[in-house]
Amino acid sequence: KLYNLVQDLKGNIRVYCRVRPFLGGQASQNSVVCSIEEGSMSLMIPPNSKLGKEGKKTFNFNKVFGSSSTQGEVFADTQPLIRSVLDGYNVCIFAYGQTGSGKTYTMAGPDNLDEDTIGVNYRALRDLFFLSDQRKDTIIYEISVQMLEIYNEQVRDLLAPEDTLEIRNSSSNGINVPEANLVPVSTTSEVINLMNLGHKNRAVGSTAMNDRSSRSHSCLTVHVHGKNLVSGSIIRGCMHLVDLAGSERADKTEATGDRLKEAQHINKSLSALGDVIASLAQKNAHVPYRNSKLTQLLQDALGGQAKTLMFVHMSPEPDALGETLSTLKFAERVS
Ligand code: ADP
Ligand code: MG
Repeated sequence: KLYNLVQDLKGNIRVYCRVRPFLGGQASQNSVVCSIEEGSMSLMIPPNSKLGKEGKKTFNFNKVFGSSSTQGEVFADTQPLIRSVLDGYNVCIFAYGQTGSGKTYTMAGPDNLDEDTIGVNYRALRDLFFLSDQRKDTIIYEISVQMLEIYNEQVRDLLAPEDTLEIRNSSSNGINVPEANLVPVSTTSEVINLMNLGHKNRAVGSTAMNDRSSRSHSCLTVHVHGKNLVSGSIIRGCMHLVDLAGSERADKTEATGDRLKEAQHINKSLSALGDVIASLAQKNAHVPYRNSKLTQLLQDALGGQAKTLMFVHMSPEPDALGETLSTLKFAERVS
């Protein structure tokens, strides 16, 4: 109830900030973050910085998760959104941030998963199974998933990597990718297996020096179909869980050839996403969905009655401050 009230007041776009802890037991005394409150985060710009005026700078969000926040705490604030998919809403959840800031950690979890560290993706599906089971006397739900990747403005199926796929718009199904595998799921172990397969396929083309997964967007799409046994009515909802490509600017000296092309595609699609969300937030009449594959793919789940959640990730290291500030600038634009 309270949550719905907040949604009505704030519209359908929420932005959460998550600060990654220091890695490998590094001391955290030199974090750029100087204070965190429920809805704001302040960082310190050092003297003589090229990045801006020395001193404290504060950014506002719907919620801020500090570096000691747990996967469970992060999910607790995401849960109501996920539950609304069973009521027929479309939902998009994004992880935004530079490479290494914790996007994949939030969405999927770390490499060695356990009950505490599993991410939003898995928790979301577990929740959908649990709730649909609770409602089974009145509504029969079918849940199925797709896993897509967008790399260099081309859509690929992470569950069966073949040729590039087309995004289509049909009157019966809305925007979809009909050639991509759509796998019915009813248990969390099925979901884990699919996510592992997708994860493996996403890594294709990566080397130690060259992690392709940070330069593609991956999208786990959950389709929900429900039939009300009493009224006969049909409920359709869908949720996209999107681990975005790293937002960092390509190093100007290094970016040539393929790297430069990738960087341009990422830049284009992340700014297209920013444009779409910003124009929705401002309630503009025209929303420029057509400027990237990413925004085309997600069109039905951005705007209108759909609900959007953006997790903005930041690294605590002073070295990352430049990228962190541009991440926070993006966040300001979309909130
Ligand atoms: P990205 O996907 O943005 O490139 P990752 O999610 O891969 O970043 O995170 C980089 C590293 O930091 C990984 O080793 C990951 O396990 C670790 N990490 C990220 N966020 C957290 C967190 N909240 N708690 C603990 N470790 C984290
Ligand atoms: Mg990642």
